[in-house]
Amino acid sequence: MNSSFLPFAQPEIGEEEIAEVVATLRSGWVTTGPKTKQFEADFAAFLGGGVEAIAVNSATAGLHLALEAVGVGPGDEVITTTHTFTATAEVIRYLGADPVFVDVSAETLCIDVDAIEKAITPRTRAIMPVHFGGRAADMGRIIAIARKHGLRVVEDAAHALPATSDGQLVGTLDTDATVFSFYANKTITTGEGGMVVTRDPEIAKRAKIMRLHGISRDAFDRFVSTAPSWYYEIVAPGFKYNMTDVASAIGIHQLKKANAFHQRRAAIAARYDEALADLPLVLPPHAQTGDIHSWHLYVIQLAEGAPCSRDALIDHLFKQGIGCSVHYIPLHLQPYWRDQYHLTPEMFPVSQRVYEHTLTLPLYTRMRDEDVERVIKSVRDAFN
Ligand SMILES: *Cc1c(COP(=O)(O)O)cnc(C)c1O
Repeated sequence: MNSSFLPFAQPEIGEEEIAEVVATLRSGWVTTGPKTKQFEADFAAFLGGGVEAIAVNSATAGLHLALEAVGVGPGDEVITTTHTFTATAEVIRYLGADPVFVDVSAETLCIDVDAIEKAITPRTRAIMPVHFGGRAADMGRIIAIARKHGLRVVEDAAHALPATSDGQLVGTLDTDATVFSFYANKTITTGEGGMVVTRDPEIAKRAKIMRLHGISRDAFDRFVSTAPSWYYEIVAPGFKYNMTDVASAIGIHQLKKANAFHQRRAAIAARYDEALADLPLVLPPHAQTGDIHSWHLYVIQLAEGAPCSRDALIDHLFKQGIGCSVHYIPLHLQPYWRDQYHLTPEMFPVSQRVYEHTLTLPLYTRMRDEDVERVIKSVRDAFN
């Protein structure tokens, strides 16, 4: 047993984040206010392309707002992947609509684009691709299908900061909205948090109203602008999804480090690729040539005929003090989704096969080179 347990994921919070949080606490303004405005402006500038960024308290909240803003409602269908976290699909149910689950492509582990077209019905309203692990989905083809059928596209980009598709940053593509996550294990974190990004002023306006009770102006404007401070209007039964300035204080500094964090993640992924290439493993799908993979997750699969099962490998690594995870237990196996939509493994052969053979290795910026080598040695030992 090694001396210390190497967790599967860990955030990297620096003194800059800590100082900004303390300054925020001392400022007297702890909920949505100037720090959130700054984080939103910085985030929009980071992506470029004339997008607007709307900070929320989770990506789940952001996905809910984005679907609401594009008009998804009762009776509608939204096509998404079974190979994702439940948040992607649950927000569709929040709106009384039905997710239509399709399989993933073995090459990308993202939504199978051919399966999307087959799943379209007169009730289909939107497509929700997930950039699995940080590898962008085949967005060119997804956007073309959406245009052809008059569908909206909301990207679950929880893994995809930063990632590109055909050379363009995820968040600036020709879709209706893109939602990023700042959950503790994501590529940048605010503890809990998310960002809705859109170039459509109507979607931005609706999301801003709905993130704070359906109030037509946000708290900052109400208290700080020259308009009468007591007056506001409720235009819809909205939600309580705003991001606090305490969280935004963390986000401002995490965002400044996003490119450096990405370089470290990419270097670790490259080292894993090199050191594991000769083992009976299927290594993670790479981005298309010239594109950026965020390397949120390093997902491997045991190859057919490997002399060790997935469960045995996870168990071996755990005994060596190394934490792993499984991304994901597909939604078609989860009791609620399985029973509600009569889903079977046979409907999702690729996702099912990946699930049975997959594990995710530790990959985060605070890993030292010795930690990476320790993971590699332990994986190699499992095959000896
Ligand atoms: C993390 C995650 C979410 C939810 O993000 P939160 O910020 O925790 O709400 C949604 N989709 C995917 C694919 C995720 O990994």
